[in-house]
Amino acid sequence: MDKKEAEDLKKKLFNQKENGWKSKTAEEKNAILDYAKGYIDYMNVSKTEREIVENSKKIAEEHGFQDINHYENLKVGDKVYYINRDKSMYLAVIGEEPLENGLNIIGAHADSPRLDLKPNPLYEDTEFVYFKTHYYGGIKKYQWTAIPLAIHGVIVKTNGEKIKICIGEDLNDPIFTITDLLPHLAQDQMKKKATEVIEGEDLNLLIGSIPFDADVGEKVKLNILTILNEKYGITEADLLSSELELVPAMPCRSMGFDNSMIAGYGQDDKICVYSSLTALMNIEKLKKTAICIISDKEEIGSVGNTGMESHVFDTFISELLNKMGVNRPNLLEKVFCNSKMLSADVDAGLDPIYSSVSEKNNASFLGRGIGLNKYTGARGKSGASDANAEFVAEVRRIFEQNHIAYQIAELGKVDVGGGGTIAYILANKGIDVIDCGVPVLSMHSPYEVTSKLDLYEAYRGYEAFWRNV
Ligand code: MN
Ligand code: MN
Repeated sequence: MDKKEAEDLKKKLFNQKENGWKSKTAEEKNAILDYAKGYIDYMNVSKTEREIVENSKKIAEEHGFQDINHYENLKVGDKVYYINRDKSMYLAVIGEEPLENGLNIIGAHADSPRLDLKPNPLYEDTEFVYFKTHYYGGIKKYQWTAIPLAIHGVIVKTNGEKIKICIGEDLNDPIFTITDLLPHLAQDQMKKKATEVIEGEDLNLLIGSIPFDADVGEKVKLNILTILNEKYGITEADLLSSELELVPAMPCRSMGFDNSMIAGYGQDDKICVYSSLTALMNIEKLKKTAICIISDKEEIGSVGNTGMESHVFDTFISELLNKMGVNRPNLLEKVFCNSKMLSADVDAGLDPIYSSVSEKNNASFLGRGIGLNKYTGARGKSGASDANAEFVAEVRRIFEQNHIAYQIAELGKVDVGGGGTIAYILANKGIDVIDCGVPVLSMHSPYEVTSKLDLYEAYRGYEAFWRNV
């Protein structure tokens, strides 16, 4: 066999793993860069789960979706959403086939690792005033000092009045920061393990330093409370019923001389929220009903009544069955058993600087398209929802027919760590599920990195999955 024939044979038999940019035309490259602009704009106003839900609702309504509560009866082609306590959201486009035949579901999560304020956050020390925090999700605590931070969230007064806070994003706003020790005096600190360099109780946000003009104790705290009272009409006690989140006050930006990447906070998993949501907006007519999930609390185990473990999602699907006039005992379970799902969550992209934690044959790479994880878990796949080969084949078929760049990977080398997503929760209901999202570098850091090509392929891939043609 000559060299040319052998090359052709290789092409036919090998699983080609190629950089996705190579096969894109100039027109396609423009479409990729253009789509990323919309994503960056969305990210810059959507740093928390509440903001994601608010902005996603706007996008959905612009595309003809309505609150399910506005409908007495549902019919084929109707587009509805349900919002759970302003933090999670489900959307549906009713398909032509009976719901009993199963749903095509794509689910991502809106929450990201961050620092939350404690219920009693405010204190004064040495004429500085601070907010105490409790971190949320898996973070490297040392990454959260000496960077600009913004405060986002709500304060709810006992009369029910809800005050929205977003301070630190506008260039005219002040920002906040958590100080770190100067290297000159950090001899002891620098010898500590990375988990102990910054202690959780030291993640205190510096928020003020001017004393109130009167001879009383805690003058600086009094001055800050006076400012908060004038600006928001609150007292210290109102912070007891608040949800205030500290997020990096750094905008999401295009990255690299070639503008091929995106850097920004919270791309895990808002990149999958945006790509699935905008894919759903393209859909008018379908055979099977399309469901889009934007869940909360994934980063702390999907717990609570806004997390995926809650039964609110089941209630939403039951409502669809009720309002289609087809519900009967045990139908919900049957619907789930016939359903299919992409658990749209980010994947750990191989980072050449830290390649020792990845196994190159089974790693996902930035720029090679949407990343599928057949399973996640740790220590012998523990805790994983391992997608069935039959379902993996079906997803491959959809992606290959639609020329979606995809890669199937594992989360790191065997026994170096692990992770999980919402996949197993839906799998427990009988749904066929596979993890399917965008590879990320610096995941869970204040500034995560993704590829615009992968974002675009996720968007195209999600739409193809819903259309299933
Ligand atoms: Mn995630
Ligand atoms: Mn995560």
